[in-house]
Amino acid sequence: MNYKNDKDFALEKDKKDSLKDFRTKFFIPQHKGEDKIYFTGNSLGLQPKRAKEALQQELDDWAALGVDGHFEAKNPWFSYHEMFKSKLAKVVGAKAEEVTAMGGLTANLHFLMVSFFRPQGKRTKILCEGKAFPSDQYALESQLKFHGLNPEEHLIELFPREGEHYLREEDIIAEIEKAGDSLALIMIGGVNYYTGQVMPMKKITEVGHKVGAIVGFDCAHATGNIALELHDWEVDFAAWCSYKYLNSGPGSTAGIFVHEKHANKPELPRFAGWWGTPPDDRFLMKKGFQPDYGADGWQLSNAPVLAMAVQNLSLDLYNEAGRERLIEKQKDLTAYLEFVLNDISERIESINFEIITPKERGSQLSILTHGSGKELFNKISEEGVVADWREPNVIRLAPVPLYNSFYDVYRFGQIIEKSL
Ligand SMILES: *Cc1c(COP(=O)(O)O)cnc(C)c1O
Repeated sequence: MNYKNDKDFALEKDKKDSLKDFRTKFFIPQHKGEDKIYFTGNSLGLQPKRAKEALQQELDDWAALGVDGHFEAKNPWFSYHEMFKSKLAKVVGAKAEEVTAMGGLTANLHFLMVSFFRPQGKRTKILCEGKAFPSDQYALESQLKFHGLNPEEHLIELFPREGEHYLREEDIIAEIEKAGDSLALIMIGGVNYYTGQVMPMKKITEVGHKVGAIVGFDCAHATGNIALELHDWEVDFAAWCSYKYLNSGPGSTAGIFVHEKHANKPELPRFAGWWGTPPDDRFLMKKGFQPDYGADGWQLSNAPVLAMAVQNLSLDLYNEAGRERLIEKQKDLTAYLEFVLNDISERIESINFEIITPKERGSQLSILTHGSGKELFNKISEEGVVADWREPNVIRLAPVPLYNSFYDVYRFGQIIEKSL
């Protein structure tokens, strides 16, 4: 594609964009009477305009019906989570029985590891990416300690080669093979939150299974961002949050995937709760936990309806836009941002930044800033750019296809130039 760093070009791209109307379905934060350039959909997705209406429906039903809302609300709360299965399944490439919306991401990782991290004999290790998102690091370390294992010995962390910024597939594979039958679990971020690198999930799963390990992914930065095929890749389990690329609101309900091959294993150890039993049994108040079939068998508590009301609508927006169209626009938009950044750094000598995101990427580009990066970041923030700064020197930018435009990218380039 031949891109141009100019206004007419960007506006023309927007005019031809079949998803352009979706931007109007979101609130865009404002700066001096203009739309901010919001490039942090990888951290907190924007609010769909109909969020209030979706919430209001549940508040009204609660006001009018009280407890009877469990069965008589427009969307009965007793079976509320069931609406999410087919919608989420499309987003992550799964069967409906393999997914459920529940709880919070870190808590869900723990619950899934209770079932899927079962160190035994010499098969005791967990392999993850180095500098994983802190919550994942803490979860993995504490799981190891919970089993009486020392993380120093039993956690294998993968780091890029000296002088490189992201992991090479061949190095990941080699480490898995090297760990061999000492490996109990591989648990890696599907998209690295820092570099934006998309991990070769299919390949990792294949090689992980070959050495006899269980393979799970933290899909916080992958769900709603890249094309996942969790079922076909035979991933054992995955978990994600819904407030990043799924635009479900701060702290909204997370989601899990458990592959069909584990759907009917009541013998798998798990930390259970009443919502994990089959719906017909749920109110029988029986003694003795029997898990429901599939991912639903990992649920504990009844659905947090107020948090999920927005997610329900956001998933409809995602599916209405359609995964294929979103990914097609995403590639174009990210490539345009890359083009604009490269154009600036070719023309302006004083600029000193480097894109550290590989070609295997989703919406995010991470820029390593040499020199006065923080100063540049502060300046663009004052000009209405919402990006994020990660110590020591990285700016993360995520133009997302649902509501960002090519004109956003062009304006971003102008602001960068002005700020230099
Ligand atoms: C955003 C994110 C989290 C956040 O976890 P919560 O439990 O939702 O607070 C955890 N892990 C990764 C990889 C993330 O990107």
